Amino acid sequence: MQLEFYGGAGEVTGSCHVLVVGGRRLLLDCGLIQGGEAPLERNRAPFPFDAAQVDAVVLSHAHIDHCGRLPLLTKRGFRGPVYASPACRDLVRILLADSANMQERDTERENRRRRRDGDKRMVEPLYTLDDALGVMQQFRAVGYGQPVEVLPGVELTFRDAGHILGSTSVWLVLREGSVERRIVFSGDVGQYDTPILRDPEPGPAADLVLMESTYGDRLHRDRAATLEELGGILREARRDGGNVLIPAFAVGRSQELLYELATHYDAWRLGDWQVFLDSPMAIEASTVYWRHAELFDEEAQQWHARLRSLPLLPNLKLCRTAEESMAINRISHGAIVIAGSGMCTGGRIVHHLKHNLSRPECDVVFSGFQAQGTLGRAIVERRDYVRIHGSPVKVEARVHTLGGFSAHGDRQDLLRWYGAIPGRPPVWLVHGESGAAQALCDALRADGVKAEVAQPGVAVDLGAAA
Ligand SMILES: [Zn+2]
Repeated sequence: MQLEFYGGAGEVTGSCHVLVVGGRRLLLDCGLIQGGEAPLERNRAPFPFDAAQVDAVVLSHAHIDHCGRLPLLTKRGFRGPVYASPACRDLVRILLADSANMQERDTERENRRRRRDGDKRMVEPLYTLDDALGVMQQFRAVGYGQPVEVLPGVELTFRDAGHILGSTSVWLVLREGSVERRIVFSGDVGQYDTPILRDPEPGPAADLVLMESTYGDRLHRDRAATLEELGGILREARRDGGNVLIPAFAVGRSQELLYELATHYDAWRLGDWQVFLDSPMAIEASTVYWRHAELFDEEAQQWHARLRSLPLLPNLKLCRTAEESMAINRISHGAIVIAGSGMCTGGRIVHHLKHNLSRPECDVVFSGFQAQGTLGRAIVERRDYVRIHGSPVKVEARVHTLGGFSAHGDRQDLLRWYGAIPGRPPVWLVHGESGAAQALCDALRADGVKAEVAQPGVAVDLGAAA
């Protein structure tokens, strides 16, 4: 009986761990590697195990750094079931289709470049839309709190992780001969008291915990202060007579922003605005959220029940087509535009930035992390000029960064989640850059907990671990 760390150990993307029980192999997540050095090559490289020898996969949630290499796993021979919560499965379908489209587009661009340079070696996409839709046939949906035997000797129970809709922490009971071990994989843990979603759910005692550590070294800004700031920005923006652009991730952040706009509609005087959700993917993801209102927290459920026959916001326009999106560019003032991508690396937000960024009466509001090297980061750093579609654009609009929105819990949330597991079991930390993981490790050790930062390729003997 053993646990092997592969991806998402010592870094934040490419989550993937292997459990070996009774000679069978279970994968925890199968995520795409994003950012860092040579992600394309790393994603293309052979898996450090034989895909055909994997018997089942358990997905903690739908983010692409947790599920984005599943189609590749199937392409390379995996034929077993993929266990996920029902809402997770519905979101995975949207995210994998988008990821496949992106892979196909990127490959076409790369091949055009190679042809121009006289290079005859063409590249293939990591996977196609057909591959992505094909893997969906292998999904088995399992609701929260329902124990299921996923392999002989492996029983799984999902619990709500409060991170995005349908996100789970995975409780596993492993049996091999007379040995029984209880393992918990945290998945990504959300913030407590976040809107729409329920709090991360506690579970029973365990022998070993595999825990994420993304913000293991940080505390988030207070939510109420963040909302007050957003309200203030919108009120002032209306006075200045421009537009407000909000770059946002399609799944999670877009729905959270719409929810805050809807619940603060009067307080923030939003009746004076036209609000655009300019992202087919965010619209689709919102439909999935809406269909799974049974997973909302109490406040959001009451709000949902009240809204059943009303529009979400009376002045919200959902833009699916490119024509609808381009029409927004003719509006000079009074538009709030929510569009992707969240870090402005592509997508419709880039066009809106091109039209509004050099206008001092406009505002750009960031609510998510902006990685080094992205257009979003350059704007947040308030460079004088940024390059958009190859041309310099002066940054004259007001730029704001809201600190309180995060799908991830901070250090305090992570310690609270761990603290709710009885018995203070030993911890292996994953899914964090080394500084964050080490800081959380130190905090746990200072509290008398046996903690280690997981290293890729390392295997833990679970028979001996307890
Ligand atoms: Zn996540």
